[in-house]
Amino acid sequence: MKAVRFHSHGGVDVLRYEDAPDPDLAPGEVLVRVRACALNHLDLWERRGLPHVPIPLPHISGSDVAGEVVAAAASQVPLGRRVMVQAGVSCGRCAACLAGRDNERPQYEVLGYRNHQGGYAEFVKVPVQNLVAIPDEVDFVQAAAFPLTFVTAWHMLVTKARVASGEDVLVLAAGSGVGQAAIQIARLHGARVIATAGSEEKLERARAMGASEVIHHHKQDIAEEIKRLTNKRGVDVVIEHVGEATWAKSVRSLARGGRLVTCGATTGAKGSLDLAALFSKQLSVLGSYMGRKSELLQAARYFFSGQLKPVIDRTFPLADAARAQQRLEESGQFGKIVLEV
Ligand SMILES: [Zn+2]
Repeated sequence: MKAVRFHSHGGVDVLRYEDAPDPDLAPGEVLVRVRACALNHLDLWERRGLPHVPIPLPHISGSDVAGEVVAAAASQVPLGRRVMVQAGVSCGRCAACLAGRDNERPQYEVLGYRNHQGGYAEFVKVPVQNLVAIPDEVDFVQAAAFPLTFVTAWHMLVTKARVASGEDVLVLAAGSGVGQAAIQIARLHGARVIATAGSEEKLERARAMGASEVIHHHKQDIAEEIKRLTNKRGVDVVIEHVGEATWAKSVRSLARGGRLVTCGATTGAKGSLDLAALFSKQLSVLGSYMGRKSELLQAARYFFSGQLKPVIDRTFPLADAARAQQRLEESGQFGKIVLEV
């Protein structure tokens, strides 16, 4: 099959469009003909190399896949079925999985990461339980753009922060995958959204998606603007994934009883916390990683009925994966960048 692989770590130039062996199916796995694969920041991290995470080389990235089932070493899987794929690979046997908290198991694995070859290829093998059937009217590009960011944002807002109707939610980086998903999920739950972005064009798009207020995070002070927009009260929920660059302002933006949920630290992992503010304002700081299969299925209902809609920034042919990753690296995108295979 054709695939995009890297044989050593480095810049986008290590990505090679080349022939690779077809995947071998183990019992319980299915082979998916990839039609679309969305990019995530994880793809960039593992291509550059992570100091404590060995990646067997050569490696194929790609955690967000949509396509058709073409072979199965499992029963009751109709060949030809159009599917999207849950990125989290769980065992289904440990205590966490059996409690439905499959994203909390100690060695949580992700399609396209470490030992799992991903969707930057014509074919990918996945455990049968990772398949989610998609209706005919949902196209592959949309379907590939959905699972990872929407399950992540759903877990953050609904499960961790328990967002409620009428609350104020601050969403950082509206143009990011998690940002655009969080705006929509917060609106779906009746919250008012205040979103940040780094350009006028992105702010305009955030408004069009349902953000009531927007903050230019290069030109305006996030915490000061939140004070002004909430009549000094602060927001009930902050959706963090930026890290060092915004952490202090995110904490300062919280109202009494506010919840800050973080799923990433793109600009660095150090952040401090004023413990006096933490207890006296009764704040909650919540870590969040990916999401559960059950949450993906819940979110998918709103996707299939048109109430949640992944925003597509741009598509690239598989052979142009390097250019696609470069666009993500330069933060030029609004929404998901998707490879068409
Ligand atoms: Zn398990």
